[in-house]
Amino acid sequence: MAINKDLMIEEFLKTYGGERDGIEVYFAPGQVNLLGDHTDYNGGHVLPVALTLGTYAAIRRNDSNVCHVASAQFPEDGIYEFPLADQRPDESIFWVNYPMGCLWSMIAHGHRPSCGFDIFFDSTLPLNSGLSSSASIITVTIYSIMKMYGFEGISPIDLVLMNQDAENSFLNVGCGILGAFMSVFGKKDNAIYLKASSLHFKYTPLSLLGKHIVITNSGIKHANMNELFTSCLDDCKKGTKYLADNLPILRLCDVTSDQFETYKDMIPMPQVRDRVRHVVYENQRVMQAYNALHVGNITRFGKLMNESHISLRDFFGASCPEVDCLVEAAWNTPGVIGSRITGIGFGGCTVSIVENNAIENFIESVGRAYTEKTGLKAEFYIAETGEGAHEVVG
Ligand code: ADP
Ligand code: MG
Repeated sequence: MAINKDLMIEEFLKTYGGERDGIEVYFAPGQVNLLGDHTDYNGGHVLPVALTLGTYAAIRRNDSNVCHVASAQFPEDGIYEFPLADQRPDESIFWVNYPMGCLWSMIAHGHRPSCGFDIFFDSTLPLNSGLSSSASIITVTIYSIMKMYGFEGISPIDLVLMNQDAENSFLNVGCGILGAFMSVFGKKDNAIYLKASSLHFKYTPLSLLGKHIVITNSGIKHANMNELFTSCLDDCKKGTKYLADNLPILRLCDVTSDQFETYKDMIPMPQVRDRVRHVVYENQRVMQAYNALHVGNITRFGKLMNESHISLRDFFGASCPEVDCLVEAAWNTPGVIGSRITGIGFGGCTVSIVENNAIENFIESVGRAYTEKTGLKAEFYIAETGEGAHEVVG
């Protein structure tokens, strides 16, 4: 579905009425992580790209002391209102807490709009699928408000931190920094090699020459994602504590694979040890993958993607039978350079790199294998890399 400025304005006017004047349209992308999962909250490396898929926002000041939000993804909720002065999470309509949390976070960081606004969202991203639709709606909201009210002095990093605060503190949703970072810093034709502990990053040209990133959505969504993520955080914390008794480390990603092999028996719980194993080796894989991209060795990159999936499946326990089916079908399809689960996992999407002339067959044969085995229908996205948050002009 293509969305452009005119369509957003039209949808906005259908929702709120009034004149076109004063409506501005902004966009923030989702992301797909090519390599490095469950490393970001352990201070390690990730290697994501921003997508051309993302969240659009049309916004207009309303000169009142209330804010209105509406989303094309939740038409049944109509227009939702909250006060400019005081934001409290609403348990009954969860999604509205994302834009409300943005205002809360901006005010907490010293940026208070002078009057209310009406905002309308539409999205080309699948929601709840590991492509960071949450970070994308948060960034587009903060960015829209920042531009509309002409707030000065908000740096891109401030935006990332406000985004994280909104999701972690207002919504009480645990998540790493990757989605927030990419929704701001994304760059077309580049992956970002990011070290989560320091936020140091390098743009890495992604020359896929005759290949594309293909994202496959399993459609599997876990209702208890927050608890699953908390168990990941807890296990990683426990692992860090055991290893820190013997090693001068602050975070799991400070541990090298040699150190892990020497000290792994200090971790008594098998699940914690396996999760640590994944994090340590995954972090190393991202560094190797960065080097592979640097010299244009996409075949090596693909092998590292496959290894990452095996580790997430067998050691971290972040895959599920449906996603394994998608990845195994991809591995068995000609023209596939690499394929793995991406994002937090427990369902969601896979990311594959596929030769252009093999994409049609990929979609056909992976889709068929998935339906035969699970009775479900997979969705495919031939991904293009895109820019971080920006105004939509056309
Ligand atoms: P992910 O970030 O992987 O897509 P999350 O569970 O972190 O998954 O966030 C998804 C949630 O973000 C949705 O369930 C919804 O509450 C909110 N959200 C994302 N995009 C939109 C949108 N376009 N309109 C309204 N809410 C959205
Ligand atoms: Mg999210």
